[in-house]
Amino acid sequence: MYANHAPAGQEPASHAHADQEPAGHAPADHRRLGRDLQLFATEPLVGAGLPLWLPDGAVIRAELERLAAEEAIRGGCQRVYTPVLAKRALFERSGHWAKFADDMFPPMRVGEEEFVLRPANCPHHALVYACEQRSYRDLPVRLAELGAMFRSELSGVLGGLSRVRQINLDDTHVFCAPGQMPDEIARAVASVQRCYRLLGIDVARYRLSRRGSGDGYLGGDELWSAAEGHLAAVLRDLGLDYEDAPGEAAFYGPKIDIQVADPAGREETLSTVQLDFNQPERFDLCYIGPDGGRHRPVMIHRGVLSAMERLVAHLIEQYGAAFPPWLAPVQVVVLPVAEPHTGPARAVTDRLRAAGLRAKCDPADATLGARIRQARERRIPYVAVIGDREDAGGLVALRLRDGRRLDGIGVDRLVSEVSRQVADRGADLGFR
Ligand SMILES: [Zn+2]
Repeated sequence: MYANHAPAGQEPASHAHADQEPAGHAPADHRRLGRDLQLFATEPLVGAGLPLWLPDGAVIRAELERLAAEEAIRGGCQRVYTPVLAKRALFERSGHWAKFADDMFPPMRVGEEEFVLRPANCPHHALVYACEQRSYRDLPVRLAELGAMFRSELSGVLGGLSRVRQINLDDTHVFCAPGQMPDEIARAVASVQRCYRLLGIDVARYRLSRRGSGDGYLGGDELWSAAEGHLAAVLRDLGLDYEDAPGEAAFYGPKIDIQVADPAGREETLSTVQLDFNQPERFDLCYIGPDGGRHRPVMIHRGVLSAMERLVAHLIEQYGAAFPPWLAPVQVVVLPVAEPHTGPARAVTDRLRAAGLRAKCDPADATLGARIRQARERRIPYVAVIGDREDAGGLVALRLRDGRRLDGIGVDRLVSEVSRQVADRGADLGFR
């Protein structure tokens, strides 16, 4: 389930002003960079909080979705696909209707039935689990889906990618025996740490989000204190310092929130690991134990890469849109010095594309200097220039985004080094 299950008023303060331009154009505001670099757009006819992912933004998201899929497989997850809407009754059963309806879009009537856009995919996954009889030998069952879910936020609080009405969440639900719980929580945290290392994201702090006062929560005191105790024990065993945060839990259970900071130091929740004794109860989930009897599994909600919207917003700001090669919308731009070099430049572009790289030829209808400047403004990692000398020798003059200039690089080497950086998801530009 999504990181912020709290009502809009409990969102991090950093998003309170999300609808307005920040004063003085902060250097790394994802909305400005997203607009300037045409990563995403908001259209009044579609609606606020419903961004359109433009081709270059879609590349970044697709690469992150691929990383999420690989990480899920590596973590022993099985992929499922479930619909973005369901009968209202599903969410009455899950408890969302009682505790979360204010954040959901109103029901749609179709004949005698009422459907709602889902606020989360946990109930669907609980039903996927229940589609088969499960034995203790089958556990843990880990169901992964990067799916859309919806929030009926009011227009006034929406902006960019950080507050939206449709989120696309990297979400896994683990169903396990109680004894497997500590290991599964530790695996989820390790998975987050592995992805963050790759993405260069620093954890600001781990937060143990506990139940607060009030009746916004499902389940009894005993379940809650047990669940909170389990999460705390795992954090201690992993040697991770954490902050205690009463009142930040999801309505169905406590969670470990992995907090990150943007370049301005504002903190937000990215990834979460949530423990849930309530949904298995409400959906009467079970597995057959070694004793032949029915037992109740525990459900762990594991959101490793978070919502694509929130993650991409964070990464745009973290990198100032100068993405590492594997995430860069265009990896190599090839520039013919003058008209006669267009053919060779296109041939090099084709070689790069054939190797699976995102390359683009920018023809000589402006000065070379202007085209190099434009590539720099678009934060393209590699600019390959081709003139007479390069054409004659099967070479390019390479300009890297970090300022290095390497003349006389063979086309073969260009293709192989960039391919390796991309395949390794390297943080730098290579060519050392
Ligand atoms: Zn969930």
